[in-house]
Amino acid sequence: MSEWDTAGLAAADRQFLWHPFTSMREWCAPDHEPLILVEGHGAILRDSRGREYIDGNSSIWTNIHGHNHPAINAAIREQLERVAHTSFLGFTNPPAIELAREIVALFPKDTLTRVFYSDDGSTGVEVALRIVEQYWQLKGSKRHRIIAFEEGYHGDTAGAASLGARALFRDGPTAWNFPATRVASLEELDELPTREKEEVAAVIIEPLVRGAAGIKLWPTGLLKGVRDRCDRTGALLIVDEVLTGFGRTGKMFASEHEEAIPDIMVLAKALTGGYVPLAITLLNEKIFQQFKSAPSPADILFYGHSYCGNAIACAAARASLEIFQTDNVLRTLESSISLLQERLSRLQSLPAVSEIRQCGFMAGIELKTPARPDGTSDLTLGARVCLAARRHGLLTRPIKNTVVLMPPYCISNEQLSEAVQAIESAISEVASHPS
Ligand code: PLP
Repeated sequence: MSEWDTAGLAAADRQFLWHPFTSMREWCAPDHEPLILVEGHGAILRDSRGREYIDGNSSIWTNIHGHNHPAINAAIREQLERVAHTSFLGFTNPPAIELAREIVALFPKDTLTRVFYSDDGSTGVEVALRIVEQYWQLKGSKRHRIIAFEEGYHGDTAGAASLGARALFRDGPTAWNFPATRVASLEELDELPTREKEEVAAVIIEPLVRGAAGIKLWPTGLLKGVRDRCDRTGALLIVDEVLTGFGRTGKMFASEHEEAIPDIMVLAKALTGGYVPLAITLLNEKIFQQFKSAPSPADILFYGHSYCGNAIACAAARASLEIFQTDNVLRTLESSISLLQERLSRLQSLPAVSEIRQCGFMAGIELKTPARPDGTSDLTLGARVCLAARRHGLLTRPIKNTVVLMPPYCISNEQLSEAVQAIESAISEVASHPS
């Protein structure tokens, strides 16, 4: 007998809540049972009926060391005993100071040296855009153009949404977008008219992989190529490591794979180990000094939210960084990445699978998209496979017909094998029962 009133909670959810990126018509349909998650330990989540699942997408790509990690729990409790939150506008606090010092120390000396705190990946990107705009104004430059890559995703606040997910945000009925120039490759970047190149304030890119596009890998060297071009033209490079930061690609930061150090880096998601919201916009001293040396009030960055530099979030992030050291996380991850590759190779032969893409400890299993009798594409396959995988004890969320597998790093070898097995069984079941 569970301690939770599942039916009562589900009814109240349907009555009072609106879920993000969710069809509420489908969510509220009588045959849909909302999964109510009540507990988590390591890579396992438990629902209100007592059923257990592997957290196959790290709770929307955030959790890395597992749920209920004793060290992060202890750090949060310790901070709670002091104070939960104090203003970062006009004051400061020890966890925010120490975290900034520790983050900067992860990069080569005198490269990325300043930390600006905000709340999540989207706001971290907004901060980057505000900094870029004001930086060029302070320099008396007319540079204003932002270049973003096709199929990129940088968040859903207005500025971030202007840069990515064109299909979601830009084709819809909205005037909430500022113009950004889209390119699909280095060649297209090179082919921009000289006049446009001279106007470029910054280029933004997700390093190595476009996660929200369906774990789509960039060709090797693309990031380095963008860095070189920014060096040549004087444009700033913003690297969005919201997804890739903190080990997900096998190195602490994806940019390290190509030894490309950006002018601005955005970090969020796994920053706190996946516990509480926090983002960092990290930048170099050249940009910071431009602000610092400007006459008042142009030296002020007019941006900042109520929970900037939140002490609990910073304490959690510090504990997460320490776990990388104490548990030698990146070393252990190497063998998990190899095991994931080996296990995924078995799925390649399934007739319903068109491609498997892996980047470090994340993978996209793309299914062949069937055509419906009316000629349209059936993009519900991924969702149906994920629903079936749930019955086999795995929770994840698709991107159209790509099933994402991105578990916490602490997952055991056995659990990882079970996760892939769940996807295999789910694909086979769904493929034998077309919609
Ligand atoms: N940037 C990237 C690369 C992302 O993958 C995401 C979210 O998936 C974001 C930014 C937005 O982050 P958030 O959802 O925390 O606002």
